[in-house]
Amino acid sequence: MENNQEYPICMCTEIGQGRQIGQGCMVPIKHIWTGSAIIADICTNCGHILSMRVEKPKKFKTKK
Ligand SMILES: [Zn+2]
Repeated sequence: MENNQEYPICMCTEIGQGRQIGQGCMVPIKHIWTGSAIIADICTNCGHILSMRVEKPKKFKTKK
């Protein structure tokens, strides 16, 4: 997957993606049985995480 992001602090241009599962799984506060994996954009040079997001954000909606 091509990614043209550039991390301004270390000027690394190669941003990898990581997926947090298992204990790093994020769950809605009222529905802990339905979690979602976390996807992170990670600088492959210094290891900083640029952003994190859950894979299935709709699970975290509180309103129908
Ligand atoms: Zn970096």
